[in-house]
Amino acid sequence: MTEPQAMDGLDDLGDLYGEMILDHQRRPRNFRDLPDANRRAVGHNPLCGDRIAITVRLEADSIREIGFTGDGCAISKASASIMTDAVKSRTRAEVEALYGKFHSLVTGPSTGAPGDGAALGKLAVFGGVSRFPMRVKCATLAWHTLRAALEGRGATVTTEKESS
Ligand code: ZN
Repeated sequence: MTEPQAMDGLDDLGDLYGEMILDHQRRPRNFRDLPDANRRAVGHNPLCGDRIAITVRLEADSIREIGFTGDGCAISKASASIMTDAVKSRTRAEVEALYGKFHSLVTGPSTGAPGDGAALGKLAVFGGVSRFPMRVKCATLAWHTLRAALEGRGATVTTEKESS
């Protein structure tokens, strides 16, 4: 059964939330903490209140297993969910390349090379985010967190400069 959009508090964001984004928000994939993770990081987007923890088992420089936990808005959760599916079994270099394409997608009118949309697969559903600048940080939070984890920084990353 499809709930009316108003019940989800989506109001003016309207068509930004496609069916796939809503599905991943309601039933996030890889939503768990890996007990045998060897990389982890926490990401925080204070502008929206999104907080995501990513755990990764990295083997031979590629992502063997990945999970995330945390809470936030529909975009941040769906982005983390779809990202964890998209990066599984990829190397760190491949994750960086994918992040570059995703970042161009959500930050502006496509300047990427033709074919980037296809390379992004399901991640392409976040194309609408570029029309909502406030939501870009929600969409990229999981990626910032994953990159921090892969670099072994292990710390909490934030989308904003700490003012204190
Ligand atoms: Zn958010």
